This record gives sequence, C-alpha cells and structure tokens, in this order.
Amino acid sequence: MSIVRARLKPYSLPLRDPWPSADGDVRERKGWILELKDEAGRVGLGDAAPFPGFGLETHASAGAGLKLAMSYLVGFERDRYAAALVDLPLLAPVAAAPTARSAIDCALHDLIAQGANVSLARYLGGAGTLREVPANVTIPRVPPERAAELGKRAVSTGVRTLKLKVGGAPPREDEARLRALREAVGPEVHVRVDANQAWTADEAIQALCTLAAYDLEYAEQPVGADDLEALVRVREASPVRIAADEAVRDTRTAEMLLYRSAADILILKPMALGGLREARSVLNTAEERHVPVVVTSLVESAVGRAAALHFAASLGSTLYAHGLATGEALGRDITSAPALQHGSIPVPEKPGLGVELPEDFWRDAYTVEVE
Ligand SMILES: [Mg+2]
Repeated sequence: MSIVRARLKPYSLPLRDPWPSADGDVRERKGWILELKDEAGRVGLGDAAPFPGFGLETHASAGAGLKLAMSYLVGFERDRYAAALVDLPLLAPVAAAPTARSAIDCALHDLIAQGANVSLARYLGGAGTLREVPANVTIPRVPPERAAELGKRAVSTGVRTLKLKVGGAPPREDEARLRALREAVGPEVHVRVDANQAWTADEAIQALCTLAAYDLEYAEQPVGADDLEALVRVREASPVRIAADEAVRDTRTAEMLLYRSAADILILKPMALGGLREARSVLNTAEERHVPVVVTSLVESAVGRAAALHFAASLGSTLYAHGLATGEALGRDITSAPALQHGSIPVPEKPGLGVELPEDFWRDAYTVEVE
C-alpha cells in the first residue's frame, strides 16, 4: 500500500471580529489543505495555516514547502508512514515550517488511524479517550458591552469557560472589559485572559495584580515569547497562574520553560508545534513535571481544528477546558465541523480524522500523482 496522489489547495476564511495577534489584527485566516490518497482509496487530510506573528512561517512559505514535499510523499509505502512522521523535522522543504509539517503529520496520522479502523483520538489515546471535549469560548478585544454580550451568549449555551483577550490597550480598558464580562456571566464561570505577548514584565505584574480581583483561572503569554527571564519574573510575582503559549515552540523550548519554572500551564497548539507527534513529545515533557496542558487550535479550518480536537480527546479527562471552539470565530468554513454543544465539542467517531471535503473544494488544486 502506498500514497498514489497528493493534492494541495489554498483557503481563505473571513473572521467575524478582527483577531488580535502579536503582529496586529488578523481579519482573515489563510491556509492550505493537503490531501494524501493511498492505493485503497483512503484519503488523509492535513491543514497548514501559519498565524501572523506566530513564528516566521508565512502562507506563501508553507505552500511552497508543501509543494516540494509532495513529490517526496507520493509513492511512499505504508510501512514507512511512521518513519516519515519521526523524520519530518529533517525533511528539508518543511524543516523550518511547523504548520506545513503539521499538515503532513496530520494527513499521515489520518491514514494510519484509518488503516487501524479507529478514530484518530482513539488511535492516539486508547481506552481513556474522551467522546466530547470541554472547550472555552474566546472573546476578542471588543468594547465592554460587546464582551458582556458575547460572554452571556456563550454561557447561555452551556459554556463554562471563557477566554478574554487583553493587552494592547490601556490597562483601564482591559479592566473595564473584564469587569463587564464577569458581571455579565457571574462568579461560577471560569474566566482566563490572554495577552498574546502584549506586556512588559512590569506591565504584566501590575495588570495581573489588578485583574486578579475578577477571579482568573490563568493568564496566557503575558510577555514576549522569547523573553524567558520576563516570564520567570511575572510568574514569581503574579497572583494569577501563568500559562505559556507562544513560548512553547517545540519540546526543547517546553523543557526550558519548565526547567526555569516559568509557567504553571503549557498551551499546546499541535499545528504551531509541527503536528501531533511533536505535541505528544511536549505533552510527555509536561507530564514528567506534573504541569497540566491545554490544547488549542490556531483559528484554522475544520481540518486543523479536528486534529487538535482528536489530540485533546486522546488526553482523557482534564482540569481545564481546551481552546478548540475557534471555529465560532470564522464567518464560514471549508466544510462542516463538530461544533460546541453545551460547552463541549463531540469527537468524530469515524476512522481517522472524520472530516470530509466536497470534491468541489479541489478544483484547480496543485496535484502530484504516481506516474
Ligand atoms: Mg494564547
């Protein structure tokens, strides 16, 4: 059994509200869908959607890397899929492109799980796998009334955890937005904040001392991803638990963060880490030190979100809701996807990823076939 065809197609999806990033507001999410088809007619899907300000990879570089890698993947024998996963960081066209690697990693995992006739979650997690994954709803940096409205709407559907974007605004605005949200949803709902690297260490400590009054679950990436010392300082002084997000780039950076006790929680974005294999490696590092992880998607298409959902489900029960409901932020999607129901997302039970794309989607796709 071998891979007989690879197809690649770009997508561009509008966001309902502008999404703050370390690189300014994002208004559309662009990515690539990779499809690998085997001799038995199975197709494995993967998504590559670099997030502006999250590493150096761009939409163009991810696409260029994937096109080159496709020629290498077509003709690949099934008994070498696992080796291909392990060797992926060494594959030259995508070595410096984590989301492109993630697309290949997920498409191969999809094929492997389908070959084993189990869902991807079950393939990764075995018996303890969740059937549905509790998820938070993210509230962008909107005015206080809109934050309150979005929070109330989410809670009325059964959501128990909200994440509010902060930073990049005067501290008083952040406090007003958080106060409006907390007053709207009451004391029982978990509220976490995410500054996306917006603060200096001093600003972060000051802000978190103020925002702590509104009972926060944790604060994500208060300072720059490259400033380990700042994160250590903030964690020491902050009354709020600290989660590292953009700073978690791979197993090596996760080890450094934990070695320096720079974070109470690690955020794992399988796509940003280069796929499910690297995400599992970071997970092992966190578990060794009894540090909890939260899995999040990268506001990508249904394909990438499904991979993150399966990964989160494979971890079993969890203390924290995962950041997987980012599909709610998109104005449309490339295909239907499991959505939030009463605060959780049901995990597809079909073999593999459980996502299908209409044949229409592939019109004018870049294609490499066995000759
Ligand atoms: Mg974050």
